[in-house]
Amino acid sequence: MEKIVYLCKLFYATVMIKTIIAGPCSVESREQLRIVTEALAAMPRVGLIRAGVWKPRTRPGGFEGLGEPALQWMQAFAAEYGVRYCCEVATPDHVALCQRYGIGTVWIGARTTGNPFMVGELCAALRGSAMQVLVKNPTSPDVRLWLGAIERLRQCGIADISAVHRGFEMYHNHGYRNAPLWEVPMTLRREMPEVPLLCDPSHIGGSRELVAPLVQTASQFDFDGLMVEVHPDPDAALTDGPQQLTVADFAALLDNLAPLAAHRSPLTERQLEPLRRQIDEIDHEMLSLLARRMEMSRQIAFVKRDLNLPVYQSDRWSDVVADRLQQATGLGLDADFTRALLEKIHAESMRVQLNVGE
Ligand code: PEP
Ligand code: MN
Repeated sequence: MEKIVYLCKLFYATVMIKTIIAGPCSVESREQLRIVTEALAAMPRVGLIRAGVWKPRTRPGGFEGLGEPALQWMQAFAAEYGVRYCCEVATPDHVALCQRYGIGTVWIGARTTGNPFMVGELCAALRGSAMQVLVKNPTSPDVRLWLGAIERLRQCGIADISAVHRGFEMYHNHGYRNAPLWEVPMTLRREMPEVPLLCDPSHIGGSRELVAPLVQTASQFDFDGLMVEVHPDPDAALTDGPQQLTVADFAALLDNLAPLAAHRSPLTERQLEPLRRQIDEIDHEMLSLLARRMEMSRQIAFVKRDLNLPVYQSDRWSDVVADRLQQATGLGLDADFTRALLEKIHAESMRVQLNVGE
């Protein structure tokens, strides 16, 4: 029974994954590209092969990609194996070369998305073309930069745009190469529901053990597809070796993705509805309570003013946090979540108190 429930969950969890892009971080040789292309061409769910031709390296001295020769091989193998490739572009010259070698899809890398000048130059180079463009999130968790890059592309007449979530560089990445911060791609999803959204678990995880669990987590969110790094011999890879999957591991990952099914059906709706009603009710109660709490903040601000006391009382605030954290622990709530929530509430309370009587 447990197993059936688990399988159902897996089935339900993976219904949204439609687009699958896979391939090596970088093209390293004609033979490496041929081997991986042959393997991926035999997997019908793989719609596009990714293969980096120019590699952005954090520090100088590493492998920076093969450039034009790689594009020549890609053009030849596209015809031979009936596949389509995509690669990263970071300059107008890259765009022109991709067009020359028949690459129909390009992606804008994380370091480029964060720079509106560079995005502008790429847009100018892409103007008038029918290329598909994938926009990776910027390295910082600023959803506006990500949205802005998509808007700039649209203004240049690019119609086929998807977004790729590859995680964010943070001071604390909690074991990931790039922190997933799932709420950021979900904000993009809400702002631009029409833009297909893919997840790149390879660059989020940074190690191959994390790729399958990340796919599992991603499938609990609203993603349309995946971009996964796959290499014939990851341990010998010239870039991102630790995070690339072998062909066999990638095939197993695909096998674990259930076939497509309707996300919303009368059955799922019927089962979710009563629980959703309760959640709605609780949210409404929470908001009423928050409004009451802010009213108390307003009242206490008048008293503090009459007594000539400062608005911010650090001892009182430390006591509040300690007390609420203890209660939260007893209630089974996560301590980090509780602290973050309390800080938000306190910041709003400070704002309300500082504005009293103005
Ligand atoms: C890549 O996909 O190989 C890459 C360099 O990606 P990102 O821009 O997400 O770091
Ligand atoms: Mn890579």
